[in-house]
Amino acid sequence: MQENFSLKPYNTFGVDAKAQYFAEVNSIEELKEALTFAKAQSLHLLFLGGGSNILLTQDFDGLAIKLNLKGISEENLNDHETLVTAKAGENWHEFVLSCLQKNYGGLENLSLIPGNVGTSPMQNIGAYGTEIKDIFVSCVVLDLEDLELKTFDLEQCRFGYRDSIFKQEGKGKYVILEVTFKLTSQNHHIKTEYGAIKSELEHMGIANPTIQDVSKAVINIRQSKLPDPKEIGNAGSFFKNPTIPLAQFEDLKQKFENIQGYPNGDMVKVPAGWLIEQCGWKGRQIGNVASHKLQSLVIINATGEATGKEIFDFSTEIINSVKEKFGIELEREVNII
Ligand SMILES: Cc1cc2nc3c(=O)[nH]c(=O)nc-3n(C[C@H](O)[C@H](O)[C@H](O)COP(=O)(O)OP(=O)(O)OC[C@H]3O[C@@H](n4cnc5c(N)ncnc54)[C@H](O)[C@@H]3O)c2cc1C
Repeated sequence: MQENFSLKPYNTFGVDAKAQYFAEVNSIEELKEALTFAKAQSLHLLFLGGGSNILLTQDFDGLAIKLNLKGISEENLNDHETLVTAKAGENWHEFVLSCLQKNYGGLENLSLIPGNVGTSPMQNIGAYGTEIKDIFVSCVVLDLEDLELKTFDLEQCRFGYRDSIFKQEGKGKYVILEVTFKLTSQNHHIKTEYGAIKSELEHMGIANPTIQDVSKAVINIRQSKLPDPKEIGNAGSFFKNPTIPLAQFEDLKQKFENIQGYPNGDMVKVPAGWLIEQCGWKGRQIGNVASHKLQSLVIINATGEATGKEIFDFSTEIINSVKEKFGIELEREVNII
């Protein structure tokens, strides 16, 4: 247990906020010990995975717990499917690579997403036409009220677009300890329709891609357009893509003929990056904070010296200008602490 501890290395924005208390836990027993300490002192709790989806807007007045639970196990279901379970503290991308090495399919489109396995259900992480709900079986959680272990299946997790029960009613009630996925061991479903995967595979000279090729293509695309948090502080997409009623979209189309939208029933998903760019934010810097020059949806700690409050205020300005120009209220994807 450490006191007055800087969380700068524990959040990918590189914000220098301090936690009143900080502990790293390697087992459920250590986690329970830390929770007992927090309860005795009535401390607020903050769980940390890779810190790649949080913005610390102030010092954290409570106990920050870094979850380091490790281990991967598997169970053959049949001749073409395997259940793979990983503990919360496993790094997501290393987990994806370890599955690909064994030729287990289903995670390849989610290559190179930062963070840990235990956080993946929180916002149903997704990229390139796949979300974890597509291969998710269950997760084991610790209930913070009674310290009992509970299992949530696919339905109970109520996954949505960058959403789950753990961001809604279950917020602050559970710690996710391990996650189980159902992966293919043969007859893989290769998904190349989304984004630039097809053209990247062509560029790589691959006509009949394997799951490993798809992963490599996704890694190449991501490396070419997203800033590496090790070099420039960021948390990936700062906002969700808004979903608006079809009628509102059609009205906007009259005014802004280039507006893009992806219909889904009587709603339309609009790319937040495009809206932000149209408001002149792409590459724009105010003080220590900027919108990334290649991807306006990504807010960066441009100088490395930004405070969480500055980043938050910058994001508020973006929300206000998109609201003013398009009448659409952007929602932050990043967890504000
Ligand atoms: C460059 C970059 C690209 C990204 N690209 C994508 C992308 O393509 N798709 C996507 O979906 N996301 C993306 N993200 C966002 C981020 O990687 C994911 O949301 C990831 O799952 C966060 O994991 P983490 O372990 O870093 O979470 P953290 O930031 O540590 O935690 C996020 C939230 O979950 C809570 N939490 C953490 N662990 C647990 C646990 N075990 N139990 C309960 N609560 C917990 C935290 O308190 C916090 O509220 C990107 C981020 C970056 C920096």
